[in-house]
Amino acid sequence: MARVAAITGASSGIGAATARALAADGFHVVLGARRLERLEEVAAEVGGEAIELDVTDPGSVEAFAARLPRCDVLVNNAGGALGLDRIDAADEDRWLWMYEANVLGTMRTTKALLPRLIESGDGHLVAVTSIAGFESYRGGAGYIAAKHAQRSMLRNLRLELLGEPLRVTEVAPGMVETEFSLVRFGGDEEAARRVYEGMEPLRAEDVAECIRWTVAQPSHVNVDEIVLRPRAQATATEVHRI
Ligand code: NAP
Repeated sequence: MARVAAITGASSGIGAATARALAADGFHVVLGARRLERLEEVAAEVGGEAIELDVTDPGSVEAFAARLPRCDVLVNNAGGALGLDRIDAADEDRWLWMYEANVLGTMRTTKALLPRLIESGDGHLVAVTSIAGFESYRGGAGYIAAKHAQRSMLRNLRLELLGEPLRVTEVAPGMVETEFSLVRFGGDEEAARRVYEGMEPLRAEDVAECIRWTVAQPSHVNVDEIVLRPRAQATATEVHRI
């Protein structure tokens, strides 16, 4: 039986590109996200399986995990940002969603699939965090707090699971042109377009290739973290535009 890679948030962007990259490397990919139709299109393209998943719902995560025959690789990718509110105007619902999706979502899928990853004898957990996991920018506090927390969980996992046949890798991108900004700005296409104006952002495939590469390393090699940004981006806010 082919090795199985479960990828959360695979209906678009980095998750969908990762599904294509891991399927091309011989994995049977199991894809999770809320938009089942979009997920099924990606699954059909790569010969994988689509399962509806909402990582903010514990029952949905349990049902997703129960459908997996085995799990060798888990890519915790589902997540995102809502808004660009300063702390003095923070919207609690948005903050809660960002914490639920990025932090608790990662905890839930990890907890549900850890036994399967360890049983595989050569498991690999990858999480897509962000440069927001270690940098700050005005208006980003809700997302930044969540990505800092998600990142810290990976360090804990390495300590708590030391000695188990499990690798833990963090992939932290800078600006990637996906649906990320469209979601952040509530569907405002013009606001999303302006984020990448006059510069060449990363593509989802660039991040997927990092994930594919780290998974393809020999079992004894744990790539702790990969940080990748567009050449035109020095920090979260310093971006060269023409
Ligand atoms: P995207 O195109 O918006 O993809 C986000 C994915 O997450 C979608 O497939 C979405 O699917 C899924 N998702 C969101 N909430 C979910 C939930 N509650 N349950 C299950 N799936 C959920 O954006 P992306 O850039 O590929 O984002 C992927 C990851 O990269 C995120 O964790 C994001 O924070 C991180 N990241 C992005 C950038 C960037 O600039 N784009 C930079 C650094 C890090 P459904 O809507 O169908 O559920």
